[in-house]
Amino acid sequence: MNLLFLGPPGSGKGTQAVRVAKKFGLIHLSTGDVLRKAVKNGTELGLKAESFMKNGDLVPDEILIEVIEEKITSGKLNKGFILDGFPRTIPQAESLKMMLLKDNINLDKAILLDVPDDEIIKRLFGRWFCPVCNADYNYPAKIPKVEGFCDIDKAKLERRHDDDEGVVRNRLEVYKKQTEPIIGFYKSESILRNIDGKQTPDTVFNSICETVME
Ligand code: AMP
Repeated sequence: MNLLFLGPPGSGKGTQAVRVAKKFGLIHLSTGDVLRKAVKNGTELGLKAESFMKNGDLVPDEILIEVIEEKITSGKLNKGFILDGFPRTIPQAESLKMMLLKDNINLDKAILLDVPDDEIIKRLFGRWFCPVCNADYNYPAKIPKVEGFCDIDKAKLERRHDDDEGVVRNRLEVYKKQTEPIIGFYKSESILRNIDGKQTPDTVFNSICETVME
């Protein structure tokens, strides 16, 4: 079984991809994770990707296509996979189609986690931490009892730098402009499946599992 997960930042696709991969014994390939590791290790790939990632922009297509091509041709995905975060542009989707065709690999379903914009905004701007005790808070799973203040020591909560408003807004805009068009691409391939991503994480997980087994 070969799947890919689509959805805006904050839709929960990373979390769901991990759970679904475990349940069905699939390889979970998150391009975001691959790139973050490369940046951390200071590899050539990391050096190329770092500045784009910092600004919330997409890393150029040719770099990502090379990463995925290496994974496919090495046979690492042969047992079945979930692609999480790739493709993110029409050229990436078209390249993936060619690469899979060449290796005679079938893509079974593209699962879209559908979450309305107002909910996405709440989730993306809804992460805080306490500068005193380091406790984390996030919407909707863990919200403080008094808005803006830590439950433990009542300190005023702060936001993390990687959640800077400008970067978050840019990631959302990039998704709308560059990634959303691939929904139409998979619809026309008749493998798109919509999941209501606003439900609780467990309900989303069960809906995905049902869809995968159809
Ligand atoms: P993610 O963890 O999936 O949100 O990815 C984090 C960052 O990695 C994104 O904001 C992009 O800068 C970069 N990235 C991940 N996947 C891709 C992709 N398929 N194409 C371009 N950039 C990507």
